[in-house]
Amino acid sequence: MTDPTPAPEDADDAVDAVDPTVVTDRDLEVLAEQLGREPRGVVGIAARCACGRPLVVRTAPRLPDGTPFPTTYYLTHPGAVAAASRLEAQGVMKEMTERLGTDEELAAAYRRAHEHYLARRAELGHVEEIDGISAGGMPTRVKCIHVLMGHALAAGPGVNPLGDEALALVRDQWRPDRCSC
Ligand SMILES: [Zn+2]
Repeated sequence: MTDPTPAPEDADDAVDAVDPTVVTDRDLEVLAEQLGREPRGVVGIAARCACGRPLVVRTAPRLPDGTPFPTTYYLTHPGAVAAASRLEAQGVMKEMTERLGTDEELAAAYRRAHEHYLARRAELGHVEEIDGISAGGMPTRVKCIHVLMGHALAAGPGVNPLGDEALALVRDQWRPDRCSC
């Protein structure tokens, strides 16, 4: 008697081979739920929760209706969005922007984050209206913690210093490696 079901190790290999950035129909359903509307211009899932649900969507620089869209890495996870909003309410953006004016090393790293953001967006095409404009206040100000967190989650640690800081600040309330979906 032979067992017709595939060996477990084969099934594991198949799962490992799936590119986590590829958008599935299930992802689009979850995104609609997270955003409370149909997701637009989604080209990839840039970061996922430990459970696999999207945290950050990679979005086309021009939406299907023609609107330029600078926020290439859009934070969608409700827990992360709420954590970012709490930091903003605490005045963290003003404090970070002030430090950019006095800490040259931080300012240089933040400029590199801006360049990284633009370079990754350029892979998706050129949009004249937002040429040279990244998001979140980069390269000289902090205007949106959600953008910086989304970038840090998508790019991994060491790319956006203030996004990394924001993630560290909310770690007790929300973190990507522990599912709170
Ligand atoms: Zn989760």
